[in-house]
Amino acid sequence: MTERKLPVRKCVGCNEQSGKKELMRVVKNKDGEVSLDPTGKKAGRGAYICKDVQCLAKARKRKSLERSLKCEIPAEDYTKTDEE
Ligand SMILES: [Zn+2]
Repeated sequence: MTERKLPVRKCVGCNEQSGKKELMRVVKNKDGEVSLDPTGKKAGRGAYICKDVQCLAKARKRKSLERSLKCEIPAEDYTKTDEE
């Protein structure tokens, strides 16, 4: 086996597993605020999504981010994410 074991996370949009570097972390802090976490170091409950507007659209449609983070995500937060 020459394949290196990289940490993988599942995208909440397409449900594909990818390396952490391919994904954007979305984190909910203790105050319930949802934000992007490009460094992967913010505290809180995190979910991962591909850096792809298609996945974001899927996650939004299926509310999978809400399910992963167990909270409501205001539409403007998605707008912010769209700009990434
Ligand atoms: Zn994806």
